[in-house]
Amino acid sequence: MADAPAPLTITAPTEETVTNPVTDEGDHDRFAHYVRKADAARAAVEGVPVRALCGKVWVPNRDPSKYPVCPECNKIRDRLMNRNNN
Ligand SMILES: [Zn+2]
Repeated sequence: MADAPAPLTITAPTEETVTNPVTDEGDHDRFAHYVRKADAARAAVEGVPVRALCGKVWVPNRDPSKYPVCPECNKIRDRLMNRNNN
C-alpha cells in the first residue's frame, strides 16, 4: 500500500491541498514542487515518496525555501485555485 501510485486527480482543492512546496532531490531540475498536504505529512512521517501536482514522484528531504517553485506546479496550482474560487 505504501507505493501505490495515485493518479493525479486533484479535482477540488480544499485546505488539504497544499501550499508548502517540497523539493526535488535530483542533480538538476532542483525545484520546490507543490504536493498535497496529506502526502507531505505522510512522507515526513513514513519516508514514502510524494507526488507533486506536476506528476513528479520523489522522496522529499530538503528545505524547499532554497529553491524556486516548479513552474509546472505553479501553473497547475493557479488553475486549481481559480477553479476553486469560481
Ligand atoms: Zn512540479
